Amino acid sequence: MTTIAILSALLDEQRGLLGELSNPHKVRRGGRDFWCGQWHGRDVVLALSKIGKVAAATTATTLIESFGAKSIVFTGVAGGVGVGVNVGDVVVASDFVQHDMDASPLFSRYEVPLYGRSRFPCDAALTAILLEAANEGLTWACGHFEDERSGYRRKVHQGLIASGDRFVSDLADAAGLVDALQQFGLNPLAVEMEGAAVAQVCHDYALPFAAVRTVSDRADSQAHVDFSEFVNQVA
Ligand code: SAH
Repeated sequence: MTTIAILSALLDEQRGLLGELSNPHKVRRGGRDFWCGQWHGRDVVLALSKIGKVAAATTATTLIESFGAKSIVFTGVAGGVGVGVNVGDVVVASDFVQHDMDASPLFSRYEVPLYGRSRFPCDAALTAILLEAANEGLTWACGHFEDERSGYRRKVHQGLIASGDRFVSDLADAAGLVDALQQFGLNPLAVEMEGAAVAQVCHDYALPFAAVRTVSDRADSQAHVDFSEFVNQVA
């Protein structure tokens, strides 16, 4: 039976899944905790990458090489930077870019050297399943959570996510980052710190990858406050 890996950066993002795992057993490898078990009759391994692209890439590689993962799904939180991408919304990734990749003038800005590309696409079939699950999840959540901004209907968005080794917590910084990407035809809906690294590893191994991120903050000066409240209460 093929093993599906579900990866998150932080325990707060993973905690809800751990409780769902049958026959869980923990394996520690390369400074990471991996929980193996079954979910809905499938072999599943849950992993925590810690924060940032390097940590995410090594964890994804271990999932594939040591745990036989045949596909990887990332679930976590992100800062919303797209128009109308608000706290509580969900972003399902169509593809990823590294917003801090810049080997110009040797390579064009954002291009990952020697890959000939800046965008790493997600798997279409796995992404379609995530989209359906995200829509169902939000419909369920609408009946269970009171939103302070009453009447606000959370949305599921699909599009580009930008990853980089920086917690974006300044409106001008976020706007500059988006502007610079848009000059290269890249229009991100959200920023986070791991996804593009996992997408690159899955590209190397030709394995399906998909990612879903709930918007915890708007990558502005409130981001650290919104982020902390959100991961504790909702994610
Ligand atoms: N305060 C946390 C660190 C959070 S880093 C701690 O001490 O553990 C933020 C994490 O959430 C990263 O894993 C990143 O992928 C995601 N994230 C959420 N909002 C973000 C933002 N505005 N900018 C970058 N990453 C963000």
